[in-house]
Amino acid sequence: MSPGFTRPRPRPASATQRGWAGKTSRSPESREARPVGRACLVEACGTAAAGPRPAPRMVLVELSGSREPARWYCKGACAVYGQALAEVRALPVGGER
Ligand SMILES: [Zn+2]
Repeated sequence: MSPGFTRPRPRPASATQRGWAGKTSRSPESREARPVGRACLVEACGTAAAGPRPAPRMVLVELSGSREPARWYCKGACAVYGQALAEVRALPVGGER
């Protein structure tokens, strides 16, 4: 019996979800360059936190255990979005369990 045989069958993913999952579950080496999926006109919003604060009013969003690296975001909605993104990317990916 193959692993996972007795698991409940998940709902089929929509094309959007499959596209998203495909982008998030592969090529970890390109993680820092991966788009964060939020259109923001502020330069450096969503950039990986490899260096110092890129601009005033930017906040660092970091979640240990997340596949999402620490990133700088605009204070406010972008930071909230970034936190949610980090939390989603801390969830186990199908097949890793
Ligand atoms: Zn922003």
